Amino acid sequence: MENKPLIIFVLGGPGAGKGTQCEKIVEKFGFKHLSAGELLREERRSGSPKGDLIETYIKDGNIVPVEITLGLLDTAMQKSEIKQFLIDGFPRNEDNYTGWNKIMANKVNFKFVLFFECSEKTCVERILERGKSSGRSDDNRESLVKRFQTYTNSTTPIIDHYRKDNLVRTIDAEASPDQVFEKVKELFQKECLS
Ligand code: UDP
Ligand code: MG
Repeated sequence: MENKPLIIFVLGGPGAGKGTQCEKIVEKFGFKHLSAGELLREERRSGSPKGDLIETYIKDGNIVPVEITLGLLDTAMQKSEIKQFLIDGFPRNEDNYTGWNKIMANKVNFKFVLFFECSEKTCVERILERGKSSGRSDDNRESLVKRFQTYTNSTTPIIDHYRKDNLVRTIDAEASPDQVFEKVKELFQKECLS
């Protein structure tokens, strides 16, 4: 029987460095990086009938209904030849969490949540800097306030669920990308994922 795909969730506030660190992990440890936010943005760009709905959620810093996000994640996982995944920016709320548990949890080998801990001040500075060139409709002060509210109110309780089961690996993400990656590397080597 085929082995179940290996899953690591990557969480942290907007601008904590999830995407940046995931790229480095891919390079060093050969994972497939699936950013839930990026999959949603691609779906919107593709001219999908769900595009307008997705845009409304993203611009307001709200979480898209899980059926949409899970469908995109599932398709991307099936398409990938690499079967160890960094799922970046998911699950972000109770709806995501219960949807995943219902549909996917028993089909995968879940390892842990990689949690990038970063102050709101640093995150805001990073995102406003990124916003100068990212072209993202949510990289502006107004959307950012809402994204942080959503993160605090909806995502941190999900991280707490995993923490209760000792499934959260926390990385201090205040430093530069290379400095943060040094700690990520140590963790991945320790957890025997190399
Ligand atoms: N998003 C969502 N569900 C997800 C992941 C992302 O609805 O599972 C939406 C949400 O509106 C979020 C936006 O996509 O604010 C951007 O997410 P992304 O992870 O790309 O932003 P980051 O946190 O990396 O800055
Ligand atoms: Mg990101």
